[in-house]
Amino acid sequence: MTGCLFCDIAAKELDATIVFESDRVLGFEDINPAAPTHVLVIPKEHIVSAGALDASHAQLLGEIFDSMARFATERGLSGGYRVVANSGPDAGQEVPHLHFHLLGGRAMKWPPG
Ligand code: AMP
Ligand code: ZN
Repeated sequence: MTGCLFCDIAAKELDATIVFESDRVLGFEDINPAAPTHVLVIPKEHIVSAGALDASHAQLLGEIFDSMARFATERGLSGGYRVVANSGPDAGQEVPHLHFHLLGGRAMKWPPG
């Protein structure tokens, strides 16, 4: 989508440190990491947020979570990791293109702020 930051990254029109990629999914380093490992995982197609997902996205979501689990193993996140999808203004979503934060490498607190 024109004017979408993460569509531009998916189209390689904007630089990012890509950590994995498939036909439909891209993982890249968050520019402002909140943990030793902090990557963003996006569908290459423009989907606004988790609130726009439905059963038609089941295969895509399966691929996203499969890629995250593989990546976490590769990165050696044997202690676990956190997956976050902020959806909408109350959750603090800044970029209106669906993305999953994968955070790891330190102990996390709960609940989040
Ligand atoms: P959210 O608040 O859930 O929408 O998260 C947006 C995330 O995108 C933040 O963690 C930002 O640090 C990250 N971010 C913004 N611009 C870029 C960029 N150009 N490359 C990588 N990460 C980015
Ligand atoms: Zn987009």
